[in-house]
Amino acid sequence: MPQLSKRTETFTDSVIRRMTRVSLQYGAVNLSQGFPDFDPPKEILDRLAEVTKEDYHQYSITWGAQNFREALAEKQSRRMGRTIDPNGEIVVTCGSTEAMMAAMMTVTNPGDKVVVFSPFYENYGADAVLSGAEPIYVPLYPPEFNFREDELEAAFRQHPKALILCNPSNPCGKVFTLAELQLIADFAEKYDVFVITDEVYEHIVYEPNQHVYFASLPGMWERTISCSSLSKTYSITGWRLGYIIAPAPIIEVAKKVHDFLTVGAAAPLQEAAVTGLRFGNDYYRWLQEKYTSKRNLFLKGLDDLRIPHTIPQGAYYVLLDISEFGYDSDLEFCEVLARDVGVGAVPGSSFFREPVNHLIRLHFAKKDETLTEALNRLESLRRKILPR
Ligand code: GLN
Repeated sequence: MPQLSKRTETFTDSVIRRMTRVSLQYGAVNLSQGFPDFDPPKEILDRLAEVTKEDYHQYSITWGAQNFREALAEKQSRRMGRTIDPNGEIVVTCGSTEAMMAAMMTVTNPGDKVVVFSPFYENYGADAVLSGAEPIYVPLYPPEFNFREDELEAAFRQHPKALILCNPSNPCGKVFTLAELQLIADFAEKYDVFVITDEVYEHIVYEPNQHVYFASLPGMWERTISCSSLSKTYSITGWRLGYIIAPAPIIEVAKKVHDFLTVGAAAPLQEAAVTGLRFGNDYYRWLQEKYTSKRNLFLKGLDDLRIPHTIPQGAYYVLLDISEFGYDSDLEFCEVLARDVGVGAVPGSSFFREPVNHLIRLHFAKKDETLTEALNRLESLRRKILPR
């Protein structure tokens, strides 16, 4: 038999998605893969029911339905503080997963380097492999997950083509400050580098932290490819609706990459999601309050159980420190946790370039009763998992 592609030799399956399967197998409360167990807004679901009876069953325009792009441009223009052209500056994709992949294929050639902060969302590694780019990792140091300026500049000195910026950050919950973003912007300008953002948690930010769109920094619009999605904002991760916003010459190319990758996002779902894109600011305030209350509930529960953890500034993940259990493999710990305690988590090692095995990631995008059930189960943690 001929060999399969070299390109795929280095990747395993996604650990995040694997942990969802492990959770299902053991009937664990699944706090591994980050998706909600509560309903999307009713208005969006009502519109979806109507859409099934309307004429939205064939392909939309490949780079996104007109109605969707117009609603998105209006919302993001408001948020990002610049007028975004729905016809020239947006490509609608199948989730931000495709947006990031298409962005990488749009700006990098095989052999190009890309700067990635570590810890990082695991897809970026695979995106680099698939596009033939080589990551240069820059560590973020706990507890605040700050980077060191000299280490970042050392990465820029290696002439990367792009930097990937996940803000708010999965899995560490960092929200980059304006000063940090400005420093990245200065380097991007000085070394002439693109910035590809992943801003899917743009609306999940805890006071007093504030989300700043990288593209909105002075001079950065021209070199920023902003990727995001509707998944987290409207609790519709299964709809796979994402997008790229960038200057027209970049979007021209991204449109072609996207067209040949997937043709387009689901037409009926785009139409139904327009209802969400047209929500007023109240909705985003409500979402922020909802997640703030979930964060408080969950972190307090962990504190009551004396489990050391990170304090997220944004997004909906917490890293728990499991050093006291003395496991060499955090993957094995997560399997035992799912099987014996009944809580699904993601091993921290799948996010770090560095050899980290003492952290596991849980998320709190769940109904309060689900979180309470998980906390109740975690009460037995030290009885059921003995230190090694
Ligand atoms: N972004 C979510 C997470 O980190 C979901 C990832 C996925 O499976 N697409 O868990």
